[in-house]
Amino acid sequence: MHPADTLYLSKFYNDTVACCSTCNGTGLNCECGRRYQLEYAKVSAGIPAVHRQADISKITDPQYRRQCAAVADYVDNLLQHTYTGVGAYMYGGTGTAKTYLACYILIKAIEKGLGPVKFTTRAELSDVVHPGQGATSLDSYLSTITTYRLLALDNVSFYYKADRVGLSFSDYVFQRVIHARASAGLPTIFTSRTAPSVFAADCEARDIPFPSMNSGTMSVIAFDGTPYTERKHAPKKIGDKPHKNR
Ligand SMILES: [Zn+2]
Repeated sequence: MHPADTLYLSKFYNDTVACCSTCNGTGLNCECGRRYQLEYAKVSAGIPAVHRQADISKITDPQYRRQCAAVADYVDNLLQHTYTGVGAYMYGGTGTAKTYLACYILIKAIEKGLGPVKFTTRAELSDVVHPGQGATSLDSYLSTITTYRLLALDNVSFYYKADRVGLSFSDYVFQRVIHARASAGLPTIFTSRTAPSVFAADCEARDIPFPSMNSGTMSVIAFDGTPYTERKHAPKKIGDKPHKNR
């Protein structure tokens, strides 16, 4: 575990579990213990520090009402979605709270006890499996990625270049991850700067089996509001700055 994450968790441990007079610091059957467990699960899931307290109610701007309603609806049906494998494709410009709300969905899944969840990015996919390490390494990564009831794959348009031809190693890992998740009937939440039709066509051109937007296996949510970095009521960022490879 990263030292900053250990420090983050120690705050919850020291301030709640150790000082709690209700349970005398045991955390057993106590709100303080549950709070520590929840934060531990968020860290284990790889949710970036800045989004660990993501809460839909902090987004009050009316122009985000539709996106928030769509995300709230997805969360309301989370149990069914994890059972039927319905993911979400959240797209829009930088700073429109896509990642924030993707993390919010993961946090709700943890709170609902729906099993292990994971946050990763398209960029990280090529970091975890390096070319030349052989199929065993990629296979073991893929077997891990299918243990998560819900996976958030952030910024999948990271490598998107319309003029590039062929499959890069990153594309190949992405393809295998999507295929492994879909084959296991597990949902994935994507955030992207690219419109779904463009992204789907790009995937098709590279033989990446992107889940169909029309067959009910994907909830499409457009984030077309003003970037929150330019708005007054920006979602509060709590915690440390995100660290690479964390
Ligand atoms: Zn307690």
